Amino acid sequence: MSVTLLCLEGDGIGPEIMAAAKAVVGAASQRFELDIKFNDAEIGFAALKRVGTTLPNAVLERAREVDGVIIGPVSHNAYPPVAEGGVNPSGRLRREMDLYANIRPAKSFDGAPRPLGKKIDLVIVRENTEGFYADRSMHVGPGEFMPDADTALALRKVTRRASRRILETGFRLAAARREKLTVVHKANVLRLSDGLFLEEARSLRAAYPGVAYEEQLVDAMAALLVRDAGRFDVIVTTNMFGDILSDQASEIAGGLGLAASLNAGSEHAAAQAQHGSAPDLAGQDRANPTSLIGSSAMLLRWIGERRSDEALVRAALAVDRAVAAAIDDPKTRTADLGGSAGTEDFTRAVVVHLEQL
Ligand code: ATP
Repeated sequence: MSVTLLCLEGDGIGPEIMAAAKAVVGAASQRFELDIKFNDAEIGFAALKRVGTTLPNAVLERAREVDGVIIGPVSHNAYPPVAEGGVNPSGRLRREMDLYANIRPAKSFDGAPRPLGKKIDLVIVRENTEGFYADRSMHVGPGEFMPDADTALALRKVTRRASRRILETGFRLAAARREKLTVVHKANVLRLSDGLFLEEARSLRAAYPGVAYEEQLVDAMAALLVRDAGRFDVIVTTNMFGDILSDQASEIAGGLGLAASLNAGSEHAAAQAQHGSAPDLAGQDRANPTSLIGSSAMLLRWIGERRSDEALVRAALAVDRAVAAAIDDPKTRTADLGGSAGTEDFTRAVVVHLEQL
């Protein structure tokens, strides 16, 4: 069965890490005799320049038709206002395709730095469609506004439906991993909104009796990640808490260059690195593509599991092993991990490991 992936390079280091992800997924396709095809389309500054918007409608339509999307990082903070075409492509894609679950692993690699000295292997499951995110939480208009020149308001939206489905994702993932779930909230202050989130979490407990369940306040969680991140398995939380904690967890795991993520809904999924476009590294062959390669492996696995296609799942696991082997070799480690290999050298090493597995 063939797989068509839509590749959207994005800005900054996007083109370089997308080339790396395609090279590795292409090699996996050959090695496991899969029929993976790539479609390319422009988003971000390239699309703005050519067609006047950072996310053309045709791209959105194509994203709905294909089997999966790989999204490069975007410099959306540098875009012009929405009225001048500066849409945040990743926010819009998440909303329009209902990619409600942002799955963000934080896993240590042998050979990569361990800033706190310990190995960690956890996954943050972050709600992706509401919360404090002004660009996606409202039906019409943004969730942030200024009633006068000196007052700014931001609305945080928490619904029962979105809470339930993200919590279910967290419980299911925990059940398939080490059977530990931590629900992160701030219900001592946000009694109604996080109270509703917690109520849904507690109502699901009975359906997952094998999963050890705990609740943590988000501030305590930030401290616990530093003290003992190794004790956590799956952490599920609302949008902004998940955004912040996942950067913290990725850094503890070895750095943003390693940080993969998948945006998944019930019909569609999009691979996307956790980090931004890193303009400081763009065009210099210095970016670590592990983040987008790992995200692409998550996408292959998601498609494979939905189709019960074992070859796709095996290919995804092989990509992860090949990446780990390239990181473990000091000669092919990238600069962010203390090595001297460039993006392209590292990618070639991953492909060689993949072919030899
Ligand atoms: P944006 O505004 O798009 O979020 P940013 O540069 O502010 O971009 P990030 O891109 O998330 O934020 O990353 C912060 C820093 O982390 C980068 O400037 C870069 O030095 C480092 N970094 C991020 N991604 C990578 C990567 N793939 N490889 C190596 N270093 C990276």
